[in-house]
Amino acid sequence: MYRTHTCGELRLTDINKEVSLAGWVQTVRKFGSITFVDLRDRYGITQLLFSETLNAALDANPLGREYVLQVTGKVNERSSKNANIPTGEIEIVVSEFKILNKSAVPPFTIQDDTDGGDDIRMKYRFLDLRRNAVKKNLELRYQVNRSARNYLHENNFMDIETPFLIKSTPEGARDFVVPSRMNPGQFYALPQSPQTFKQLLMVSGYDRYYQVVKCFRDEDLRADRQPEFTQIDCEMAFVEQDDIINMFEGLVKRILKDVKGIDYTETLERMTWEDAMFTYGNDKPDIRFDMKVCNLQFPSHLFIGKEPEVSRELLSIPPLGGWGAETILAIAVPGCSEYSRKQTDELTEWVKRPQIGMKGLVFIKCNTDGTFKSSVDKFYTEDKLKAIAAAANANAGDLILILAGTEERTRKAISALRMEMAERLGMRKPDEFKLLWVIDFPLFEFALEDQDGGGAGRWVARHHPFTSPKPSDVDIMINNSPKVEDLDKYLEHPYANIKANAYDMVLNGNEVGGGSIRIYQRDLQEKMFAALGMDAEEQQHKFGFLLGAFEYGAPPHGGIAFGFDRLCAIIGGNETIRDFIAFPKNNAGRDVMLDAPSGIADKQFDELQIRLDLKG
Ligand code: ASP
Repeated sequence: MYRTHTCGELRLTDINKEVSLAGWVQTVRKFGSITFVDLRDRYGITQLLFSETLNAALDANPLGREYVLQVTGKVNERSSKNANIPTGEIEIVVSEFKILNKSAVPPFTIQDDTDGGDDIRMKYRFLDLRRNAVKKNLELRYQVNRSARNYLHENNFMDIETPFLIKSTPEGARDFVVPSRMNPGQFYALPQSPQTFKQLLMVSGYDRYYQVVKCFRDEDLRADRQPEFTQIDCEMAFVEQDDIINMFEGLVKRILKDVKGIDYTETLERMTWEDAMFTYGNDKPDIRFDMKVCNLQFPSHLFIGKEPEVSRELLSIPPLGGWGAETILAIAVPGCSEYSRKQTDELTEWVKRPQIGMKGLVFIKCNTDGTFKSSVDKFYTEDKLKAIAAAANANAGDLILILAGTEERTRKAISALRMEMAERLGMRKPDEFKLLWVIDFPLFEFALEDQDGGGAGRWVARHHPFTSPKPSDVDIMINNSPKVEDLDKYLEHPYANIKANAYDMVLNGNEVGGGSIRIYQRDLQEKMFAALGMDAEEQQHKFGFLLGAFEYGAPPHGGIAFGFDRLCAIIGGNETIRDFIAFPKNNAGRDVMLDAPSGIADKQFDELQIRLDLKG
């Protein structure tokens, strides 16, 4: 037997017990004739004391960092206790030890605040995973997984595996493809999600399905994206939007309870997509803080029925007017009216960065004495500033930041600025959780530019092509041709107003889950594919199996998928999903530990009957 206890287990109540431990040497400290060793395993750290009787043995078998060590000895009360670790009151007085394996000197220290940079830690990820900071993330991931499974199990969901070697499932990304040796010249696609399979399972009668499953999407990476990632993928039959929302609101509340001990009792707000865009500039707003967007001006055909907050005349003055602004948006940042010139200059540079892409920034300081000071004092009277401040709901002490430009870019920019200011002001607290549903998304988006090689000037599915329109909008789809005569006026086409029966769950400004009620009638699904530019032949080739299945008694159904990695990261108080994945890829999609992707042997090409001839 290698061990009787773990390195995190022993306490004062175990004094005088004879025990065996096994683990890794964290540190070796020699004090005169005695040696202290910190021994670490998955469960914790225990101090070992080697008295002078073992000196000769230690000299013959010196210990080094990360050596694998087995010891036997007696539990002893420590004279100088360490209150920071649970085993800090005891130590093991070693009577026997055995080096089970040696270790090369690790390329970085295996400690919470390691000296290793990102690249080296990824290359030696198996060592990085020994660190407490990483281990606690994986533990949290496991807890989230278990909590989700328990909840779904208790609610009659059945875990059913679906294949990885499949045909394209469109979720808006590129497919990873795998050549087939047995079918030369043909390729499988790896699933972007199990979407079509879970729908087929509903047709098969498995009315509550789930899977914690890998999905593969070949897209450009960001800090919060990985080419392979995990979803908690779910589907239910005989449901409407409310049923799904209630069930999965319950799931996330249960996870917060099990993993963080949080009783999230309030019912989640359901915000329409339009309200989210109007009020926060963004369809996944962080509602932990207010700082709502004030719509000073916006194109009249958007946000139908909503009025701009100030008159156009008020804004037709440079520089806002000079920027040719179709949209003018503002936020009132609390308590920042005393920003210095340097600070406002820095913010101006921030909004001009290419990622944000604004021409400039107008600010108004709402001084605590009731006066105003602005970057446009030359053009605006105090009365006009006051009118804008009133429209922006600003209080004395606030700093109003105003952006202007084209609609889409300005909304994105104000949303980014809102998040940035909240971050700087400490309003995005990692231990505060605020959930929200965003509903009533548009069913279609119009691709003015070429998208995924699919061509320009066409409708694309905002969620995916299996999402149903809102029941009240089905007729608009059936009775209108998707053809857009004048590309400049696509917003006037009836399809632009069709709303989807789709919903996203948002947690602290991140989309953690999304799904929809599906189309389950063949003719509507065909109409949808046609709207996306697929002729009958292409529909049959790509989705004949699904259209066929819809002819054999498909029940009404709908579902959702949660981004498991991202959910874990946010619950763990960190927005980088890589930190919550045991073996992640880097930003170039590489596994630097395996050195993958890499070339393959000629023999493998021969077997696949493929000749490599890279273009360009
Ligand atoms: N398959 C969808 C996705 O991956 C989720 C869903 O509609 O259930 O986003």
